[in-house]
Amino acid sequence: MYISKLFFPILRENPTEAKIKSHQLMLRVGMVKQSSAGIYSWLPLGLKIMKKIENIVREEQNKIGAQELLMPTIQSAEIWKESGRYNDYGEEMLRITDRQKREMLYGPTNEELITEIFRSSIKSYKSLPQSLYHIQWKFRDELRPRFGVMRGREFLMKDAYTFDLTDKDAVNSYNKMYLAYLKTFKRMELAAIPMAADTGPIGGNLSHEFVILAETGESKIFADKRIFEIKTEDFNLDVDSLIKMRNDFDKYYAVTDDKYNKKDFEKKVLSSNQLVTKGIEVGHIFYFGDKYSKPLKANVDLQGGKKVSVKMGSYGIGISRLVGALIEAKFNNNIMKWPIEVSPYDIAILPMINKNDFTNLEKTEKIYKELTKNNIDVLVDDTEENLSAKIKKFNLIGIPNQIIIGQRKETDLLEYKEIDKKSQNLSIDKIIQKIKKEKNSI
Ligand code: ATP
Ligand code: MG
Repeated sequence: MYISKLFFPILRENPTEAKIKSHQLMLRVGMVKQSSAGIYSWLPLGLKIMKKIENIVREEQNKIGAQELLMPTIQSAEIWKESGRYNDYGEEMLRITDRQKREMLYGPTNEELITEIFRSSIKSYKSLPQSLYHIQWKFRDELRPRFGVMRGREFLMKDAYTFDLTDKDAVNSYNKMYLAYLKTFKRMELAAIPMAADTGPIGGNLSHEFVILAETGESKIFADKRIFEIKTEDFNLDVDSLIKMRNDFDKYYAVTDDKYNKKDFEKKVLSSNQLVTKGIEVGHIFYFGDKYSKPLKANVDLQGGKKVSVKMGSYGIGISRLVGALIEAKFNNNIMKWPIEVSPYDIAILPMINKNDFTNLEKTEKIYKELTKNNIDVLVDDTEENLSAKIKKFNLIGIPNQIIIGQRKETDLLEYKEIDKKSQNLSIDKIIQKIKKEKNSI
């Protein structure tokens, strides 16, 4: 792609209304545009990144056998009255009345709707377990929408729901999701810590938040550093392996401020292993047994004809929040570097362009073709800005690899640069090899 052909509205200065770096950067490079408080349009660059995140989430959900469906954004109030949450949810729920005076709402979450779908379709224990997810916009009328897409009112979430016959099976489904979450965040090159959490309005008795480290995070975290030494590759989807994984993580202290206890922390974690920092919640999983299946009568028939309520869990990942969270975690010293799997392009070509001399543009074109032929996604800055302006601009856009084409040189080697490192001279083949390897290593 040539930047001159793209809808790429970059601002010269940081927008003053943005308080944190992800919000500033997203407005600055034209990833999003606010349409009203906590509600954003996603412009092509921002959407491209969000779609890549969405796809990683989707692939990891599919790998554990979860099946994708799509529920609507607007729901009927009826099922929420059945579960008893219509009144409990309070002012965060955006309530709507249609022309027939029916009470509707913009879904803040989907436990009720999925339970309704389940109960009208699945009747026998033989059809269990089931694991379903969708990736859909949610609306929560947050009291203080802020920090851009990090705490929006409309936001994109992956929410999954599992249905099992017994507690034991249900905990196994929970553990599979737990592993899928670890793998999902790892592919985004994020250090995410699972932390025992309170269940809040979703309810239930087993819950973990997945929190990534970032100075600007809203939650304070207290953890044992050794938790980062556990390797997700060591676990698979066998029941025993999943139990071992949970035990390995549970061994280490890791909590957010609502569960923090100074005495406990100091007793359980040697001071040299203590990590006290801030973090951003990017995912949250819950096991809540029959909290919804009971009032909503989501039962299955057992062999003798007896009916039992299914055991359910729900599992969220904030996909739009992750775009901001990645910036918070990866934007350093005025350089943004997207992880290769999430990056909007694999490589950028920054040629110095001279009005009367087309040599560099021709050279660019050749390199562009060669890279594209190898399935490498390239962005070319074909504007007439000077090189240092281009480099500055690309430090914000965050494409991890660059080829810089400056003064004419008598060599076939190219000036290749990883965005946050020094340049080196490499042949086009070496560059192609390197990027392919990076993309495949994940
Ligand atoms: P928070 O504590 O941040 O308000 P929550 O606990 O209410 O979030 P959940 O119901 O657990 O949120 O939702 C699952 C995921 O959806 C969260 O882990 C988060 O990543 C994302 N999310 C929740 N609220 C928002 C929001 N207002 N804007 C963007 N993403 C959100
Ligand atoms: Mg939560």
